[in-house]
Amino acid sequence: MIPAVLVLQPLSPARQSELEAACEVHRLDLSDEPDLLLDRFGPRIEAVVTDGHKGLTAAQIGRLPNLRLVASGSAGLEGIDRAALKARDIPLTNPAVALAEEVADVALMLLLAGWKALPALDAHVRTGAWANGEFPLGRALQGRTLGILGLGTIGSAVAKRAESFGLRIAYTTRTPREVPYEHEPSLFRLAERSDILVVIVPGGPETAKMVNAEVLDALGPEGLLVNVARGSIVDEPALIEALATGRLGGAALDVMWNEPRPDPRLTGLPNVVLTPHVGSATRETRDAMSANVLANLRAHFAGEPLVSEV
Ligand code: NDP
Repeated sequence: MIPAVLVLQPLSPARQSELEAACEVHRLDLSDEPDLLLDRFGPRIEAVVTDGHKGLTAAQIGRLPNLRLVASGSAGLEGIDRAALKARDIPLTNPAVALAEEVADVALMLLLAGWKALPALDAHVRTGAWANGEFPLGRALQGRTLGILGLGTIGSAVAKRAESFGLRIAYTTRTPREVPYEHEPSLFRLAERSDILVVIVPGGPETAKMVNAEVLDALGPEGLLVNVARGSIVDEPALIEALATGRLGGAALDVMWNEPRPDPRLTGLPNVVLTPHVGSATRETRDAMSANVLANLRAHFAGEPLVSEV
């Protein structure tokens, strides 16, 4: 029998076609009558394809009595009710392994751009200011301390890159890991001892506004905050205030509140570098993420071990 799959967030076009060739696909994302669709097809659905943004609620899960697998197309899982899945022993997969190196590249790009003031250097050349004088001397990166909030799949890829830049590395997680970096249980103390703080923990209620005014003050007027995780993790009004008053040196952000229309007070600040949530946004990586979803579905339907269960 052809398995029935419910899609809340489609894959890349080529991978979506592959999915539709192999399965009976129901597109909740395109449906004008999502309730009717769930009433009619919910009992047939064996797998769901979604992501952290489109999510999957406990109420939706309750309408899928034969659900056996949820495959997320994003590493972030904040909108998926994991407790409801766990209660029914339904496995969840994500493509973190397929995107970690890409997101780590973006983290290092932002780290370097923020630390070395890339936007100001670029403007110095473009505006002709160079003809009137050299750009003020910058600051070295080597030997500085990098604090990493979250040392999971992506945080570890960030640390590996940072080592080659000669950075000292410390990190905060709830559980210490067996790694050659120092574990600092308190985020405040991590920020206090760091020149640069990279945020790469999951979003959701547990980490909301975890990087607050006290943490930003601990990072200090020379400090740089890099966020490639989720905007929700940083108290953004406190960040804007700290940047505007010079209590925090700078910020380099791939994620922010109110995407894709960030606060103009943030975008108007000179000491920030911003990218439009492009952590995993390359052709190769997006394709690999969709391929990972398909590989997990195939493994499930073939009765084989899942490729990347969370
Ligand atoms: P992992 O689950 O592999 O790692 C998460 C890390 O955060 C773990 O080390 C975990 O350790 C730590 N952590 C979780 N909760 C807390 C907490 N409350 N306090 C301190 N540490 C905590 O996730 P990934 O590395 O795969 O991804 C991280 C996030 O990156 C994703 O959830 C997603 O939101 C974001 N992301 C952003 C992208 C972008 O485009 N900018 C692209 C892809 C992902 P422990 O459990 O021991 O606390």
